[in-house]
Order: sequence, then C-alpha cells, then structure tokens
Amino acid sequence: MSNSPQIFTTIAEITDWRRKARGQIGFVPTMGALHEGHATLLRQIRSRCDTSVLSIFVNPTQFGPKEDLSKYPKTFERDLEIAAREGVDFVFAPSPTEMYPFGYSTFVEETSRSLPLCGKVRPGHFRGVTTIVLKLFNLIRPDLALFGLKDAQQFFVLKKMIQDLNLGIRVEGIPTVREKDGLALSSRNAYLSGEEREKAPQLHQALLRIKENLKTHPSGASFTRSLEQTEKDLNAQGFQVQYLECLEIPELKPLKDGDPIDPTRPLCIALAAYLGKTRLIDNIILNEEHLQV
Ligand code: AMP
Repeated sequence: MSNSPQIFTTIAEITDWRRKARGQIGFVPTMGALHEGHATLLRQIRSRCDTSVLSIFVNPTQFGPKEDLSKYPKTFERDLEIAAREGVDFVFAPSPTEMYPFGYSTFVEETSRSLPLCGKVRPGHFRGVTTIVLKLFNLIRPDLALFGLKDAQQFFVLKKMIQDLNLGIRVEGIPTVREKDGLALSSRNAYLSGEEREKAPQLHQALLRIKENLKTHPSGASFTRSLEQTEKDLNAQGFQVQYLECLEIPELKPLKDGDPIDPTRPLCIALAAYLGKTRLIDNIILNEEHLQV
C-alpha cells in the first residue's frame, strides 16, 4: 500500500508547494470520479516524473447551462484511494470559488481546432477547458502533462494552446482505455441503466466498422455514405447521434462530402451520441504513426 497523497485545496497551498518543488513534475488534470482510464494516466506520469500531481476539479465553465454539472459523479474518497494506489504525490482539489472567485472575468480561447465536433454542439465548452487547464498549468508549472485520447479534440486543442502561448510544457495523449466489450471508460458511464450499458459498446463497434470501410472504400463519396448509413443505424438502435465525422488531425479539419480520402494520413473518426439522457463520446485515430501534433 502506497502512502496517501498530500491534499491541497487552496491556491496559497499549491503555490507555496510549487515554490519549493524540484525535479521533473508530472501532472494529470481530471474531474474526479476516477476509473482505470485515469489510473493509466497516473501510472504513466509516476513512472516518468519525479513528482506527480493529480487535480480533481469539476470545472463549471466547461458545462453548458443544460448540462450535467450538478449531477456529475463525485467519489472523492475513492479517488484518493486510487491516487494512493497509483503512488500520486499531491492532489489539488480546489473549490469552484477558489478557481473562479466573485468577479472572475478572464478566459482563453483556441479558435480553430475547437470549432468542429464538441465545439459545435457544446458552445463555450473548449473555452472553459482551455481556461481551467491554463490556470492549472500556471499553478503547477508541470514539465509533462498527460491527457487521454478518449477526448481527442480536447487533446489537440490543448496542444495548440500550449504551442501558441509558448507554455513550454510537454503533453502526450494516451490511448483510450476500454472495457472488455469495447466501451470507452468514462465517469459518465455510471449514469447508464443496465439495458443502456449493454447497448453502449455498439458505438465502438460502429467506429471499427467505419475503419474497415475506409480500408475497402477509400473513395470519398462511398465513405461519406458509409458514415451516413452508420449514423442512421445507430439512431435506429436507440442512440441519438450528435455527430459522426472523419477529420484530419491534428488540425481537425472536417473532410467535406465526397472529398477523396487518403487512408494513409492521420485521421480521427469521432462520434458523440446520447443514449437516453447520457452523452457518450468515442473516437478512433488512424495512422497515428504519421501524426505530428
Ligand atoms: P475527465 O476526468 O473526464 O476530465 O478526464 C481526465 C483525463 O482522463 C482526460 O485527459 C481524459 O481524456 C482522460 N480519460 C478519460 N477517460 C479515459 C479513457 N477511457 N482512457 C484514457 N484516458 C481517459
């Protein structure tokens, strides 16, 4: 059993710690309700840095007014057990008012990669993400930060912010950790009913089918039709698809209808769908080996 991490809840505490900290600092930002996907990031950061910091903060500015902020799962005691098990040194878990005191008025926005996909259907989401991550980066000043490719768009947006604002922080994206049946692990999976949980892996299966289609029908028009057909099929199976798109990465440039597709280029097939009241996202990345973020 590892030692429990030291917990900071205020900016004063973490600032004081950072002033004295030495060596390579690794950082994993999360919204808590930790699962094996988060644990994988923590394990990696620990093995690669001298000191590991986990933040747990359900960031209100990245939720829309009709989204699940108030019911987002909170499992703080269990999160601490996972952090201890993974050998995390420090947990930063501030309150909303600590991060956004009364009168808070500064935001940072990436204005290209954040436009399609979740940027389109969740207006303001990425503005909230980039703002909180920049604030956390400023407080923790990590050498390396790890993110999950489960949220591929978030990763590419943050990469661009780091580059554009010359933050000098190394970031890496870690492949999506999945259940045995292919469902991407997510804190939101806890919302699914038994029946929905059985249905949910169909999203990943649909992405895998599209990947196969792309190999056999790389011509733009027939690939576009296969995306449209898959969306229809998922809707018929009880999902409400918000988007199903194939984009070039890292720029996240959507391929237009019928554009010829070079199946050797780095691509992301990204999907967001409601299953009942639960919004699930997933994606697969193709030709990652050629990716230069
Ligand atoms: P969240 O708590 O949902 O904000 O996620 C915190 C970090 O964990 C983000 O970088 C996510 O992309 C990453 N993450 C969430 N789910 C997974 C997963 N299934 N596999 C890998 N990383 C994940």
